[in-house]
Amino acid sequence: MRALRLVQFGEDPVLQDVPEPVAGPGEVIVRIGGSGVCHSDLHLIERPDAASLPWRLPFTLGHENAGWVHEVGAGVEGLEAGLPVAVYGAWGCGRCVRCAAGIESYCEDPANAPVLFGGGGLGLDGGMASYLKVPSSRHLVALPDGLSPHAAAPLTDAGLTGYHAIRRSAAKLGPTSTALVIGVGGLGHLAIQLLAATTPARIVAVDERESALALAVELGADLAVHAGPTASSEVRAFTAGRGADVVLDFVGVDDTVALSVAAVRPLGDVTLVGIGGGGTRFGYLAVPFEASLQTTYWGSRPELTEVLALAARGRVAATVEVSPLADAPAVYRRLAEGKITGRAVIDPTLG
Ligand code: NAD
Ligand code: ZN
Ligand code: ZN
Repeated sequence: MRALRLVQFGEDPVLQDVPEPVAGPGEVIVRIGGSGVCHSDLHLIERPDAASLPWRLPFTLGHENAGWVHEVGAGVEGLEAGLPVAVYGAWGCGRCVRCAAGIESYCEDPANAPVLFGGGGLGLDGGMASYLKVPSSRHLVALPDGLSPHAAAPLTDAGLTGYHAIRRSAAKLGPTSTALVIGVGGLGHLAIQLLAATTPARIVAVDERESALALAVELGADLAVHAGPTASSEVRAFTAGRGADVVLDFVGVDDTVALSVAAVRPLGDVTLVGIGGGGTRFGYLAVPFEASLQTTYWGSRPELTEVLALAARGRVAATVEVSPLADAPAVYRRLAEGKITGRAVIDPTLG
């Protein structure tokens, strides 16, 4: 089968022929109906320090996956061929306290996981191919009625990651609160909808692309602000000088981290989701009083079922642009050029 492979850090991924995977004991083969194109893959492709990751190349990209059960290995019960599923993408040991709680992105026994802090598409073969080997049936969540693999794939990461960040700050997202979303791409455009669906907070969006700001307003943002030197004062003006109670930074470069700290309200939360490599100085007078600064990595399996349920009820929907696998290299280039609106999804059934 054809697969989009990361062969060398620092080089574009390439389409190669690889053998179709076969289910060993306990494993499940999923026929891919949608695989999301995440900006994290660009960091992997572009960043020189990615080579320091403990992942061996080559592997097939695609860590946001949904499709249908194709084949089950010996000992797998309760999954029939053809069942539509989303893949929970962080694959831990399955036994430690974090894995037992369903948040395998924070597995505490990674030596006994199939890969260190990754999953399919992050260190192991992912979903940019016709078939994906999933090491355990516990990573599969049956799709609720009415949700297609195209709609579900982006929810497994772009949706889940923002949802996890929002739930973590839920206590600070009340009727008088303001949430600030920085970066309205794959993750950010879903975060706006998830905030609107699960909290009464007002929503401000920041981006450097006009098209992203227009999408933000369409999806429920109360104010769209162009990235730049006046952005923090525009957020302060919108909040009567107080600042945003919760800032979700889906870019993570020095400028956006600085904006996050400049715009956060005392007692507020800044959650750094973007892996842009930026940072800030943390110190007593360097950040507003009692502001919390935190990072986050992905989300839990129970949270994925909640995001899928919200989508099945029409409360959130990824804006998707679907392409065949043959176009995947070009789609990654368009993501790097800032030309994707919402999320790009690769569908290998289209060729
Ligand atoms: P994307 O390319 O779809 O969206 C990024 C958006 O940010 C775009 O709309 C872009 O115009 C905007 N942007 C870029 N620079 C900006 C700036 N200086 N100021 C304001 N807006 C700016 O990317 P994505 O797939 O949504 O991923 C976003 C980030 O989240 C990436 O760094 C990705 O690696 C990271 N990510 C993290 C996790 C996690 O678990 N922590 C999970 C998935 C993705
Ligand atoms: Zn991702
Ligand atoms: Zn574990």
